[in-house]
Amino acid sequence: MNAEAADDVQEVLAAVAGDRSGEPSAYLARLEGVDVDSSALAACSAAGETEAAGESTTEFALQSISKAFVYAFALQELGLEAVLARVGVEPSGEAFNEMSLQAGGRPFNPLINAGAIMVHGLIPGEDEDDRITVIRDGLSALAGRELSVDMPVYEAEMELSDRNLSIAHLLASNDILPDTPHEIVRGYSLQCSVAVTTEDLAMMGATLANGGVHPLTGQEVLRKDVVRQTLSVMFTCGMYDASGEWVAEVGLPAKSGVSGGLLAVVPGVMALAAYSPRLDEHGHSVRGVKACTRLSQGWDLHLLGHAAPRPHGRRVRR
Ligand code: GLN
Repeated sequence: MNAEAADDVQEVLAAVAGDRSGEPSAYLARLEGVDVDSSALAACSAAGETEAAGESTTEFALQSISKAFVYAFALQELGLEAVLARVGVEPSGEAFNEMSLQAGGRPFNPLINAGAIMVHGLIPGEDEDDRITVIRDGLSALAGRELSVDMPVYEAEMELSDRNLSIAHLLASNDILPDTPHEIVRGYSLQCSVAVTTEDLAMMGATLANGGVHPLTGQEVLRKDVVRQTLSVMFTCGMYDASGEWVAEVGLPAKSGVSGGLLAVVPGVMALAAYSPRLDEHGHSVRGVKACTRLSQGWDLHLLGHAAPRPHGRRVRR
């Protein structure tokens, strides 16, 4: 990244940071010391160079952003076929916490709660402690530093878990959950409560942008085929019932969380991460969406705004 990129990140955050529209997620009201008007923006190149602005070292819970990474871990451990047998790849067009399954009884995709709760259960382990250990290790490897679960966030999540328990019971009634609904929801809530900074999130995204290899530690955290599958569902389903609008406008695989975190990946190039707790009606960070939209436009990042790759570099003749 260069000085111009650093200025752009600062300018874009400054342009959106005054927006006080939207409401923070209900669980944040149960926590102390969260400034719902704080915001941060970071861009990290596939080579691991970061430019950041705002409160980019403030920690927040990954929440639903964890769903994309845990899907990748399930693919890495079990392979595509075994995962596809349990969860589809179709956008649902519904809110993230809708109680819905496809006709065959699978959740539509791994990024809505039904799919994510299912995917959590696919992670190998005897119980939620085993599964969260595998997940936390994987998330830490993506970030390049040891991450931990924010227990007050977890406790707030559990107090508000009726909806997720209902979804888990729906999955259990279709006989596709490998553990009890209560254990799976506890594990899933722990996964959602892993804390990161905006700079961590940009680095985790840069690992995806770099084909699964951490740009600085050099560790191959995910296989290339796993990254491709993960980015594909992020592209089509990552922004829930606003995915179409997001792809048309921003044109990048992405994932949001109700904490106010937002990640967008430019394969082979960089990742953008934003944080700001006020959410729009879909549960996406208002300022985060605005900031990523501006950066995508300013840096010409829309993946469909460029000529498609030509086989063997040849022009197609008519
Ligand atoms: N833990 C939250 C839930 O499952 C995550 C939702 C989200 O970030 N959209 O309800």
